[in-house]
Amino acid sequence: MVIEEKKVVAVHYTLTEGSADGALVESTLGSKPLKFVYGIGMVLPDFEANLKGLKPGGAFAFGIQSADAYGYYDETAMVELPKSMFEEDESLLEIGRTLPLQDEEGHPLMGTVIAVGQENVKLDFNHPLAGVDLFFTGHVESIRDAEPEELEHGHVHGDGGHHH
Ligand SMILES: [Zn+2]
Repeated sequence: MVIEEKKVVAVHYTLTEGSADGALVESTLGSKPLKFVYGIGMVLPDFEANLKGLKPGGAFAFGIQSADAYGYYDETAMVELPKSMFEEDESLLEIGRTLPLQDEEGHPLMGTVIAVGQENVKLDFNHPLAGVDLFFTGHVESIRDAEPEELEHGHVHGDGGHHH
């Protein structure tokens, strides 16, 4: 069996910045592998494209430019908000902390605190990996056919997936 559409794929990977020797972003090694249904948009399109045709045990190493991953860093995606908005818990206002917020239409947004002033707090709404070229190394753990229900629901069931 090879990786292609409608397979449930489990991979172990290490994500570093720019190249295999770059700064570590995250790794599944030592924990559960990433499991996803191939071909339904659960992971980055370029991530899928680079895995296509691999077999269980197959190794991979490839880069994805930031523009094809989490996009360019947007200097204008910074917002100053009055500290009074966070009255209830000012201890949240630590530089580097990510705060769950909502936009005007109620969509969830993650803002990272980059400055705390007397009156205002400055938040960065860029994705933490915006502007970062990604490099993935890893191997394929397993491949199986997706159940019709998994394709319908758009997620993986069972171990490492949804239970319902
Ligand atoms: Zn489901």
